[in-house]
Amino acid sequence: MTYIIGKGCVDVMDSSCVDVCPVDCIYSKPGDNQLFINPEECIDCAACEPVCPEKAIFPEESVPEDQEVFIKLNYEYDYDNSEPGYNI
Ligand code: SF4
Ligand code: SF4
Repeated sequence: MTYIIGKGCVDVMDSSCVDVCPVDCIYSKPGDNQLFINPEECIDCAACEPVCPEKAIFPEESVPEDQEVFIKLNYEYDYDNSEPGYNI
């Protein structure tokens, strides 16, 4: 299981989640308009979910139906060419 970042993060990216993630698995690169959680690194600790001011973070099985596209976006993001954190 992993956590997924949904549409609430788009154009917000305040990085509160980055600050609390114990394994630094929330990524971005310059030019992105949201952050992404690497499903292979997320340890399902849930620390990020309550700190997001936009309520943009969900356990994978609880992603709202109208945001299911974000599951694919988080899984298919180019983690090899991005860095943990909010990279402007
Ligand atoms: S659930 Fe935990 S490990 Fe996964 S992204 Fe959130 S803070 Fe990081
Ligand atoms: S806390 Fe929420 S809005 Fe802020 S960067 Fe993380 S997912 Fe995006």
